[in-house]
Amino acid sequence: MKNIILTGDRPTGPLHIGHYVGSLRNRVLIQNKGDYDKMYVFIADSQALTDNFNNPKKVRDNVLEVALDNLACGLDPSKITYFIQSEVPELTELTFYYMNLVTVSRLHRNPTVKEEIKLRGFEESIPAGFFAYPVSQSADITAFKANIVPVGDDQLPMVEQAREIVRRFNSIYNTDVLVEPNVLLPETENERRLVGTDGNAKMSKSLDNCIYLKDSEEEIKRKVFSMYTDPNHIKVEDPGQVEGNIVFTYLDVFCKEDSFEKYLPEYKNLDELKDHYRRGGLGDMKIKRFLNDVLQEELRPIRERREELAKNPEYVFNILKEGTLKARKKASETVKEVKKAMMLDYFE
Ligand code: ATP
Ligand code: MG
Repeated sequence: MKNIILTGDRPTGPLHIGHYVGSLRNRVLIQNKGDYDKMYVFIADSQALTDNFNNPKKVRDNVLEVALDNLACGLDPSKITYFIQSEVPELTELTFYYMNLVTVSRLHRNPTVKEEIKLRGFEESIPAGFFAYPVSQSADITAFKANIVPVGDDQLPMVEQAREIVRRFNSIYNTDVLVEPNVLLPETENERRLVGTDGNAKMSKSLDNCIYLKDSEEEIKRKVFSMYTDPNHIKVEDPGQVEGNIVFTYLDVFCKEDSFEKYLPEYKNLDELKDHYRRGGLGDMKIKRFLNDVLQEELRPIRERREELAKNPEYVFNILKEGTLKARKKASETVKEVKKAMMLDYFE
């Protein structure tokens, strides 16, 4: 079987370190390992409009932001196809056909959509497009016959929905045109859903609790130093709690083998640091300073590449234009097969 990978981002804001550990870092790793046949990455602007339809400028402006973030993290357009969703109308066409294969009650049960409806205050008036966006996401995945989808854990219900649509389509129309996708999640739970700097369960553009990949050195520092730790750890001597302490959560995710040697040589590793914190006698300032050093090291090269790329938006849009042409070709092949299976092939 061929390995076809697809993943993407909504242009609703610049990307943050949650995206980085949840999806971005993984996609660049896969890209550079090269053990796949095709890899597609896209900017989900039509999907972003489903809950930002009254703010088109926000979506438009963030297309460039999201592209810069991806390229700065190492996405390489010579190895993958990078495209814009709305410029591939075949995806909208597939969405319309797939709508017939999903019930309204099934859409109601999607836990991520439920959570997002609450977050956006949509309970009284859910836009139909937003409600059905998992169907459009199924179109994005299946149009390219992707079998691997590297994402964070909020996307599990979306990929499950796509799998159901594929099974229904193939069985009703007696075909094997569509391919069932599988998620590829990061290794640890903390990476699958990175907490926000406010301690909220998810770092999210919509919650304003993010450290952005484009943040300056000063912004990162300010955000790290204003993080909550353990509210009962008041004096340095007090024993402290590590679980639920987000400074340690971020250290779990971002600490590297050589981080201690470089920035905190009096400890051998994170376990030693945690033990000391639990025993008491280790101040919050010290762990924050360490986290700041670790994050600055990780984010500095990304920010610098991003600043270079930002000087040349035309270059970035050319990459997207070329990728979109390629993506359209593949998607239209799939639409042809899909329509044939549904007996909509009058002029062939
Ligand atoms: P929005 O609030 O507009 O939905 P978002 O922050 O959820 O934005 P998306 O563009 O929806 O970002 O998600 C892009 C990818 O990043 C998805 O694969 C998603 O699973 C992953 N992701 C988003 N937030 C996190 C997070 N906090 N931790 C890990 N992965 C995340
Ligand atoms: Mg999201």
